[in-house]
Amino acid sequence: MNKDNPNITIEDIINEINYLNEGEITRLKDAYEYAKKVHSNQKRLTGDDYITHLLNVVHILVSLNADIDTLVAGMLHDTINIGGVEKEVIKDKFGSEVALLVSGITQINNLKYNGTNETAIANHRKILVGLTKDVRVLFIKLADRLHNMRTIYMLSDAKKKENAKETLEILTPIAHRLGINKIKSELEDLSLRYLKPDVYFSIVERLNKSKNERNKFVEEMMEDVSSLLNEHRIKHEIKGRAKSIYSIYKKLDKGKRFSDIYDLLALRVFVDTIPDCYQAMGLVHSKYRPVPKRFKDYIAMPKNNMYQSLHTTVFGPEGNFFEIQIRTYEMDEIAERGIASHWSYKEQGKNLMKGMEEKLQFFRSIMEIDENSEEIDTKMEDLKDTIYVYTPKGDVIELPNGSTPIDFAYRVHSKVGDSMVGAIVNEQIVPLDYILQDNDVIKINTNKTSTPSKSWLDIAYTNQAKNKIRAYFNKIDKAEYLKKGEEILTKEFRKKKISASDMLSGDNLDKILNDLHLANINDLYINIGSGKISVSHVINTDDDKSEVLLNKVIKDNNDTEHKGDIIVEGIDDIKVKRAKCCTPVPGDEIVGYIQTGIGINIHKSNCPNVANIKERLINVRWNDIIDKKYSTNIMVYTNAKKDLILDIVSITQNNNLTLKSINNIKIDGKYSFELKVSVPNLEALNKYINALSTIEGVTGVERIIK
Ligand code: MN
Repeated sequence: MNKDNPNITIEDIINEINYLNEGEITRLKDAYEYAKKVHSNQKRLTGDDYITHLLNVVHILVSLNADIDTLVAGMLHDTINIGGVEKEVIKDKFGSEVALLVSGITQINNLKYNGTNETAIANHRKILVGLTKDVRVLFIKLADRLHNMRTIYMLSDAKKKENAKETLEILTPIAHRLGINKIKSELEDLSLRYLKPDVYFSIVERLNKSKNERNKFVEEMMEDVSSLLNEHRIKHEIKGRAKSIYSIYKKLDKGKRFSDIYDLLALRVFVDTIPDCYQAMGLVHSKYRPVPKRFKDYIAMPKNNMYQSLHTTVFGPEGNFFEIQIRTYEMDEIAERGIASHWSYKEQGKNLMKGMEEKLQFFRSIMEIDENSEEIDTKMEDLKDTIYVYTPKGDVIELPNGSTPIDFAYRVHSKVGDSMVGAIVNEQIVPLDYILQDNDVIKINTNKTSTPSKSWLDIAYTNQAKNKIRAYFNKIDKAEYLKKGEEILTKEFRKKKISASDMLSGDNLDKILNDLHLANINDLYINIGSGKISVSHVINTDDDKSEVLLNKVIKDNNDTEHKGDIIVEGIDDIKVKRAKCCTPVPGDEIVGYIQTGIGINIHKSNCPNVANIKERLINVRWNDIIDKKYSTNIMVYTNAKKDLILDIVSITQNNNLTLKSINNIKIDGKYSFELKVSVPNLEALNKYINALSTIEGVTGVERIIK
């Protein structure tokens, strides 16, 4: 159908109708004869006899399987307004039911429409629907408008636009709510054609250009899907599906490019039963990868206008998106005719109207809520915070809304991100700060020698990408910081006359790393090089900055495992520890103290802590072959008013010993020092103690027993 037929006759229509009985056909013929008489001197602006309009309106109503009263009223819909007939006359001639319908359409056709703003438009729709006592009036109204739009070309441009605007604002939403899709989409396309002819024809042209290619894809896909369903013995039919021009316009209007409209390739699969729908969908998904978020189950959850179907979009062969709808024939009937499908699918008679009345009631209530529900859906989708985009191979990548090609590249692989030079989205070069859209297909251009830019940190949206960019720069910076940190420390040690190798080895290094929560000496250099840690954390500087205090090491006796160093006569393999109180060193007279359940603690023989517990002491001795240093504690008393650390450090170095910590204690304005020093044996220790005693101001040096 889909076009005006100025030559259509009543016979054509009657031949086409297969659902009326003889009496009903006679009534329709009578109505035709009456309308012809009433409008006999009237012409349409097209120059056609007025009756052609009425015949076309009835023809459209027949396509909805409208009942006889509706067809008769359709034929007579302009008799009151245009023909000047009284309502009572219609009632007498055609009955009160028809008279009600005709006066109903007359009433709403008389409504003056000037949709200046959203509220006015919504109100008008509400009034129009509210005035309608019988939903069949709306069917007639839609058929009337459809034929008027088909023949609108005679009007002035201003009039065309006015009608097109009203159609889009008032009538297509009503057609949508009533689920009469076949009328709705034709009205939309016609309205667009007159409202925005440039846009309309450019879309038509582009569709025509790609038509052959699209048809080829669709036919191939139809064959593939069909054989898939045949393999599983699902009885079906498949049709290619033309996308309405208006729906393409809406997508372009939302900022999509023509090339992005992925459901231009569309199939509709018809099966007999609901289980067949789901099975067919399962088979399609098992063969073709579905596009996330595009699967909709309107069977389990029908739309408000009763629409039912399964929808999905899949990656077809050659990387094309295919929109596939799967439904039963009955669902298709409802999809095309909506509420009017009750004429075909329910028992004829009173129940039919009751059913439709209920629907109209419901329809009224949702018109009050107003707003095109699809538009609301769209807005909701815009707010969703996840998008799905694709690699050129069709792999799906999920990203938060707001992501850029940089986020995409780093999500694919750090190497892709690090060597990225540009991005191509849907075959168009885009800037790196382009915000990715749902279903974008993204190709990242890389160059092995290219490196990230720090400005990417501002462009990237995801933390993942930002972290990876930072990681890249950290790696680059690290090498520099390491070098720099090592230089700073070396210089500082030299200045303070401290042996770097002593400071940064063994227990002292462990202690420093531990305190600063660092893993190794390289980390220490890096942190100093980058300025995160100052040198004073490693080499403590006094208030007057003139002297240094070595970082304090508290970790006592961390070199106390002496298996094999100390021999316990007659016992092998026993845990032996040097006592913390007297810290004996090789050469000291020692004794073993048996600590129940633990092992043997080694004390100096003269340690007061073991003086009175002879029964638990055993004989032990140093092994002769020890090549190891042991830490021990020394107290250096001075009467000096100044800190003697530098002297102590330099004497320690001269003695080739390792100073593990120094505590300077100020008592009555005089400094004393508690040292922990590592020594190989008693001989070296005594030599060291003597040397310390020679420092000017030192009044005494002794080993500490705590
Ligand atoms: Mn009319």
